[in-house]
Amino acid sequence: MADNNNQQIAVIGAGIIGICSALQLQRAGFTVTLYDEQGLAQGCSKGNAGHFATEQIFPLAHPSLFKKLPAMLFDPLGALRIDWRYAVKVAPWFWKFIRNMPTIKYHAHTEALKALNEQSLAAYERLLKEYKLSHLISKKGSLLTFESTPVAEIENTLKTYQHQGIKVRLLNRDQIQALEPSLSSAIKYALLFEEVAHSVDPHLFCIHLAEQFNKLGGQFCQQKVTEVKQDNNNYQIITEQNIYIANKVVIAAGAWSNALLKPLGYHTPLDTERGYHCMADINHGLSRPVASAERSFIMTPMNHGLRIAGTVEFAGLNKKMNNKRALALLPHARALLDESHQPITAASTWMGYRPSLPDSLPVIGRAPKHHNLYFAFGHQHLGLTQGAVTAELITALCLNHTPNINIQPYCISRFSTQLACSEARPHPQ
Ligand SMILES: Cc1cc2nc3c(=O)[nH]c(=O)nc-3n(C[C@H](O)[C@H](O)[C@H](O)COP(=O)(O)OP(=O)(O)OC[C@H]3O[C@@H](n4cnc5c(N)ncnc54)[C@H](O)[C@@H]3O)c2cc1C
Repeated sequence: MADNNNQQIAVIGAGIIGICSALQLQRAGFTVTLYDEQGLAQGCSKGNAGHFATEQIFPLAHPSLFKKLPAMLFDPLGALRIDWRYAVKVAPWFWKFIRNMPTIKYHAHTEALKALNEQSLAAYERLLKEYKLSHLISKKGSLLTFESTPVAEIENTLKTYQHQGIKVRLLNRDQIQALEPSLSSAIKYALLFEEVAHSVDPHLFCIHLAEQFNKLGGQFCQQKVTEVKQDNNNYQIITEQNIYIANKVVIAAGAWSNALLKPLGYHTPLDTERGYHCMADINHGLSRPVASAERSFIMTPMNHGLRIAGTVEFAGLNKKMNNKRALALLPHARALLDESHQPITAASTWMGYRPSLPDSLPVIGRAPKHHNLYFAFGHQHLGLTQGAVTAELITALCLNHTPNINIQPYCISRFSTQLACSEARPHPQ
C-alpha cells in the first residue's frame, strides 16, 4: 500500500463519484488531490433523491417510451421536457438514444447496469464500515406505487424484475397502508424492493466521505481545472490560478466532463438531463423512498423534510432553473399522501445536472490513448447508487489490478470506431 505514496493522483470533480474515488485511492496509498471549482458536492450530488436504486437496472432507451413521448413533450411541466431552443443541439443525443432501443442492445446494457448495481451497496458497506459510518445508509427498501395501472400489467413488471433476480414483492392497498400509513388510499398496488436503501441527507453523506479523505491526508483544491495536459510521463493540471503536476488523473467532472476531454482528443455524446427537487419541511411520516410509476417521481424522507424529486429537462448547462418545474412536483406528492393531518408545502427548490449518455451507461475506465488517465462520469440517474462501486473499479485500474467486474461495456471507445478499448488487453504502466 505505502508503495503508492509517491504517486500523485488528481481527481477532477468533487461530486459523489469524485469523492468516493478520491477516498478509495487515498486509502490505497496514493497521494490524492481532489479539485472542484464549486466546493464539495455542490453539483448534482447535493440534491438528489438519496435512493440507492439498485433495482434500476433497465436502460431508459426502451421502445415503450415512444408511446408516452408525445404526451410528455407537450406538457411544459411534465416529467420530460425539451427546451425548444436546445432541440437542435440535443437531436444527435436523441438519435443515439433511439438507436440503443433494439432488444440486443437493451439486454446488453441491462446486464452492464446490473453488474454495477449488484455490487453497489456491498461496495458502500466495505467503505463505510471501516469508518463506522454504516448508519449513513438506511436499509428499509423502497416502494414503486401504482394508482391506475391494471394489475396484470403490474404483475408483468414484477416478473420482469424477478426474472433479473431482484428481490421484490407485490403489495395490495392494505399491505401498503400497514407499511406506510401516511400514504393515500388512492394507491392500489405497490412493488416493495426489499434490498434497496436510502440516505437521509445525500449532501451530508458526501461531506462525511470527504472528511475521511481529508483525515487520511487527501487534499481538496477549490479551483476550476481549465485543462489537463500530458507532460512527458506526467500531467499538468491547469487551473485558473496555477499549474499542478500529477502522475495520474481521474476525470469525474459529471455533466461537465466533455470540456476536459475535448483537448485530449476524446468525444462522448454526454448531455445533461436536468432534474428538480422540491423540499417539504416535514417528512409526513414516510420511512422509505416512495416512487410513482405513473407520475414518474420519487419522495424520500430526509433529515430536513420530504424530498420530492424527479423530472427530466433537456436545456443544457447554461440555462437557469425553471422553478415552476420544481413546484410542479408538489401536487404529485399531495396525490400520494394522506394530507388530512399535515398539508404539504414547499420549503425550498433545487435543480441539478444529471450527466447522461444515450445508452444509460457511465464511462468508467482507462483512456485508450493516454497512460494513467482514467474516466469516471456519466452516471445519469444512478450516480449516488454507483459511487462506491465506481471508486473500487477506478482504484483497481490505478493499482493495475484486474477489476472484479468486466468493465469493457463502460469503456469510452464505444463512442468511436477509431478507439480500441484498453480493457481488452493488459495495459502497460
Ligand atoms: C432530481 C435528481 C434526483 C436524483 N436522484 C438520484 C437517486 O435517488 N439515486 C441516484 O443514484 N442518483 C440520483 N440522481 C443522479 C445523481 O445525483 C448523479 O448521477 C450524481 O450526482 C452524479 O455525480 P457526479 O459526481 O458524476 O457529478 P456531480 O455531482 O455533478 O459532480 C461533478 C463536479 O465536477 C465539478 N467540475 C466540473 N467541471 C470542473 C472543472 N473543470 N474543474 C473543477 N471542477 C469541475 C462540478 O463543480 C461538480 O461539483 C438524481 C439526480 C437528480 C438531478
